[in-house]
Order: sequence, then structure tokens, then C-alpha cells
Amino acid sequence: MKRFIYADNAATTKLDEVAFEVMKPYLFVDYGNPSQPYSFARSAKEALKRARQTIADCINAEPDEIYFTSGGTESDNWAIKGIALSPLNKKATIISQIEHHAVLNSCKTLESLGYPVAYLRVDKSGTVQPQTLKNIITDNTRLVSIMTANNEIGTIQPIKELASVAHEYGAIFHTDAVQAVGHIKIDVKDLGVDLLSASAHKFNGPKGMGFLYIKNGTKISPYLDGGSQQNGLRAGTENVAVIVGMAAALKNNCDNLLQNSEHICSLENRLINRLNMAGIDYVKNGSPSHIPGNVSLSFKDKDGEAILHRLDLMGISISTGAACDSVNTQVSHVINAIGLQDEYALGTIRISLGKYNTAEEVDCIVEALRKVL
Ligand code: PLP
Repeated sequence: MKRFIYADNAATTKLDEVAFEVMKPYLFVDYGNPSQPYSFARSAKEALKRARQTIADCINAEPDEIYFTSGGTESDNWAIKGIALSPLNKKATIISQIEHHAVLNSCKTLESLGYPVAYLRVDKSGTVQPQTLKNIITDNTRLVSIMTANNEIGTIQPIKELASVAHEYGAIFHTDAVQAVGHIKIDVKDLGVDLLSASAHKFNGPKGMGFLYIKNGTKISPYLDGGSQQNGLRAGTENVAVIVGMAAALKNNCDNLLQNSEHICSLENRLINRLNMAGIDYVKNGSPSHIPGNVSLSFKDKDGEAILHRLDLMGISISTGAACDSVNTQVSHVINAIGLQDEYALGTIRISLGKYNTAEEVDCIVEALRKVL
């Protein structure tokens, strides 16, 4: 059989068996609409309640602060637009230059509607320094949104400090924690965030499902108008089975956070040691404080896109740090923002290891890389 190694866990993850099993009854047996008053709907209604509680427990929130969405993109759109469009005099939003496009393009929409947006610089490690935020925030800032961890280089931001700066100026603080939830400890109370986005398929849950944490008392416009589901803020019949799967996957990852992270960190160290032994000229992007297994590497005078395709032919799935158009290979906004030298920037790839990867797979990846380079 042809070899297959999946090393793109920042893009998506394999569904956990436990998550799949708990979903099944809500598709075939207890498929009632949770909003209906009859007894057949009770099981679905209770499943939603339990899922909300499980998710809330995993991030130290209250159950009524968890809103189910269709994933990270929707959660980010809702947070950015829902805060900007809710009635209040303040109009300005501040985000970082390295946010995911779900946040960046939501802000583009705000700008087209006349709402000002400022983009914070990051340092070479991809970190937003709290002082950078202090330099531009004013009493007119309505929302600050900084991602917990970057998807391309894994850098973890000082969210607690950044949220505290935002609050000093009376601004609301949102964090896109899509790459972080289920991978590092997240405690919304300790972090002091008002809104937090998460996506199930990044933590071994099903695709097309996520949640937005909205701290009680935060004023936000509804995202979907319709029925009265989810306090009338996000209408539409809840996807019960998939919600139940998300909760199970998150609990599984959170219960095993330490073990998973030790395993993934040991794989990451092995990868780096072997690359060094192979004498390859590369730069490792990001910060020492990063999501376990998110390894962004830039190879001198190489083409990341070509490396990706060569590895693909060898049965290995990784990703690049560069977005492509049909004519030019462009360096991604994240790699640009950290100011990587040109001779390395185009040779960027992202290997993102997950809990199902093995030491043997890491050795194969390094061997394949050595051949390709
Ligand atoms: N935010 C970040 C940081 C991400 O990495 C992603 C997905 O890659 C998203 C948002 C979008 O999440 P989803 O795929 O669930 O829409």
C-alpha cells in the first residue's frame, strides 16, 4: 500500500472515534428537533444542554455563554461584525496584521461600511507586544481582536495582558482561539476575554461546527435572524449530533492535554534535531511559546510550493506558508509581517504534527525533505 503521512493538523484533524460514536444516536434514533415541546424532542434538548455544559467546563465558562456556530469563520465574523454593528458611539476596531482571513476580511467589510480598523504590527517572533496596543488604543476603540495562536507559525499571544490593556480603555476583547482550543489550556476567566472563537475540526471534532464564547453582559448583535434558538442571537435548528460530537472531541482532548502535548512536543523536537543533523539551511519561524507541533520552516533559496507538491508525490501532506495565485507565488501576510528575509520567505512550509503522528512518520518526513531539498 502507498505510504500516507498526514502532517497538516493545523488545517484539519482526524475525527476522534469517541466523537463519532456519540453522534450516531442523534442521527438515527433521537433525531427530534430540540425546540419542539413533545417528549420525543427531550433527548435532543438534553443532549444540547449537556454539550453546552461540557464545552463550558473545558474553557471555564458558564453554559449560557456558549453559542454554537458553523465553525471558526462564522464565530470570527459574528464577533467582529456583531460588536461593531451593535449600538454604541465607539466605532474603531484594532486587530493584528497576522489574523486569519476570517478576521481580516470581516474587518475589510467594516472598513467598507465606514468603520475604522487599525492593524497592529508584530515582532519577528510573530508576537503582538502589549505596548504596541497601548500606543494606538484610545477611548474610542470599541473592539480589540487578537488571535490566541497563529495558524501559520503557531505563535501564542500574551492574551491576558492584551485583554487587560483593551479593558483599561473600555474596549471589548475578542480572541480567535481556533488553533488553541483543545491544544493548550484555555481559561476564559483567567484570560479575561469577552469573546472567543473555536472550531471543532481543529480539535478532532466534526467539520462545519464551532462555538463562540460570549461573556455574559457583552452587547452583541444577532448573527442569524430567525427563530428564538440560542437566545435569539443565532437562529436556526441546532445541529444536535455534530454539537454532541464537538463536545466529546473537546473533552477528550482537554482530558488528555498534557499527554498529547508531551507526545507532540517530543515529535517536534525529533523533527528539528533530525533536520539539524541533516545539515539543512533553514529558519524556524515563530516563538518558543507556540502551539505544540506547529512547525513553520523556511528553506534558503527554495520554493515552498514545489516542496509541498514533491512531498505530496511521496505520500506526505503538509502545507506552505505562502498563498499562490496562478502567476506568482506570493509570500503570506504572516511571513511578510514577521519580516523574514526574501531568500527564505518563498521557501516556507508548515508541518503541523498531531496526536496521531508517530516518531517513524517524523523520520520519514525528514528523510523525504532531505531528498527533495
Ligand atoms: N481562525 C483560524 C486561526 C484558523 O486557523 C481557521 C482555520 O484554518 C479559522 C479561523 C477558520 O475556521 P473554520 O475552518 O472552522 O471556518
